[in-house]
Amino acid sequence: MLIFGPPGGGKGTQAKLLAEDFGVPHYSTGDMLRTAAAERTPLGTKAKELMDAGQLVPDQVMIGIVRDALKTPAAARGFILDGYPRTVPQAEALAQIFKDLGITTFTVINMDVDDEELVRRLGNRVMCPAEGTIFSSDLDDVRAGSPCPSCGKSLIQRDDDRPATVRERLKVYHAKTAPVLTFYEKLGVVVTVDASGSIDVVHREIKALVGSPLQS
Ligand code: ADP
Repeated sequence: MLIFGPPGGGKGTQAKLLAEDFGVPHYSTGDMLRTAAAERTPLGTKAKELMDAGQLVPDQVMIGIVRDALKTPAAARGFILDGYPRTVPQAEALAQIFKDLGITTFTVINMDVDDEELVRRLGNRVMCPAEGTIFSSDLDDVRAGSPCPSCGKSLIQRDDDRPATVRERLKVYHAKTAPVLTFYEKLGVVVTVDASGSIDVVHREIKALVGSPLQS
């Protein structure tokens, strides 16, 4: 299953819930890049620069990362892919990866939210630097600098959630990522959910659309 949508659309939140429901791994390219950045690997350092400017990491880099993740035994029974593809060339490369791995069926969950709500959500979003858990200052009554409700570490605002970067990310989303939806619509594999509701409502909506977890 691919989780597709704009920054702040709730892809990561829903991807985690679905991965639990289905008992399959969750691969978030954003999380992978942030881990590489925290470890200050050469890729991570370069990726952080691009992320903080609201830009995408080059296709060839992302294609390699995703290919490596999907060919592991952990992914053999299915997976939730979150944050990839973000460009049409990435989608084309994924088609080749699926072909090589013998994957013939998949669904694209399109999380639909308008820009105004996205700007509001991203402005309110804070993260635990230790666990990566996302909190919202309006829902969870925390802000940057508050202790994480679960581990006590000081919560932070992601560097790419600053207003100027958010505007750039939305621009990049509409220019480069939105065309990916047309690519998948032509294949007839897209289900669209209204992702402006609460976490729970959106989760239930997705489950109603994709059915119950597969039996092993
Ligand atoms: P969001 O969905 O909120 O934008 P993510 O955590 O998915 O956040 O991604 C954060 C950043 O990581 C993106 O803005 C981009 O710079 C980079 N990134 C993640 N996935 C990709 C990808 N598939 N291709 C290029 N860049 C990516």
